Amino acid sequence: MYTTIEKVYHDKVNHGRPLRYDLHMHSSVSDGILEPAALVERVAEAGIDVMALTDHDTTDGVKAAARAGFARGVRVIAGAEISVSWQGGLLHILALGVDLRDPTLQQGLALLRERREERAVAMGERLAASGIEGCLDGARGYAGGSSIGRSHFAADLVARGFAKDRAAAFRKFLRPGKPGYVSCQWASLESAVAWIKGAGGRAVIAHPARYRLTATKMGRLCEEFKSLGGDGIEVVSGTHTPHDNAMAAGMAQRFELLASQGSDFHDPAQTWLGFGSLPALPENLTPVWHDWGHCAETREYRVGRTG
Ligand SMILES: [Zn+2]
Ligand SMILES: [Zn+2]
Repeated sequence: MYTTIEKVYHDKVNHGRPLRYDLHMHSSVSDGILEPAALVERVAEAGIDVMALTDHDTTDGVKAAARAGFARGVRVIAGAEISVSWQGGLLHILALGVDLRDPTLQQGLALLRERREERAVAMGERLAASGIEGCLDGARGYAGGSSIGRSHFAADLVARGFAKDRAAAFRKFLRPGKPGYVSCQWASLESAVAWIKGAGGRAVIAHPARYRLTATKMGRLCEEFKSLGGDGIEVVSGTHTPHDNAMAAGMAQRFELLASQGSDFHDPAQTWLGFGSLPALPENLTPVWHDWGHCAETREYRVGRTG
């Protein structure tokens, strides 16, 4: 079941206990609350052995996380969550185990961050036109110099009493058709997969149930993704229901995709499942980490337990 390197890690370093993985989470470098080092601290406290930092359209927090991981005995996988436009909707594709120095990946991510910034300006203008002034400045404050997203606008709208909570802010202002919504042309599925594969990583469809696709359309997505060279699908997500996990497991099996798991942690106050409380992957699936002795990231950032 394990490659040699993985097995050594198991037996010698981890005293035979199966490793625990969380391969989807955000730091303050995108829209998470915690700085990378503080995030790693929490991950370590929760008993996670291997984590991937997957900030939106950026790998800028990975080095700080890897340093903290080295000190705390958490293996940090270099990742990102790439925004993709597909058939008129937004998808998230996780990049796992990429080489941070890959120029094509970094240029692609930089382009998406530029588009994100342009969208933020346009969102601020639209909200101002509907009578809500100053939202862009407020959102920038919450982003704190990091790449700006809808959740930063939501935070400002909640703080100023325009919505009672984050979900209401999205519902009233930030969804398609609402006054603060601005559509954005993100990466194509083909480009996102090519950037990830070119950087030696694995491409994984994040939280598939969140896109609310019909079964037919979900099948089409998996088929296209697989044909483009995509590797896996997030079967267990902190934002999924057990039913959603089962749907994703079915897709993994049908399209022979590797299975991943992650909390999608953003904030200690979030309502979905956090670190260490995810259910196990179904045994009949092959985990995305099954051969991770060999991926690009581990050569550069492989870390061991300190204690
Ligand atoms: Zn996502
Ligand atoms: Zn995410």
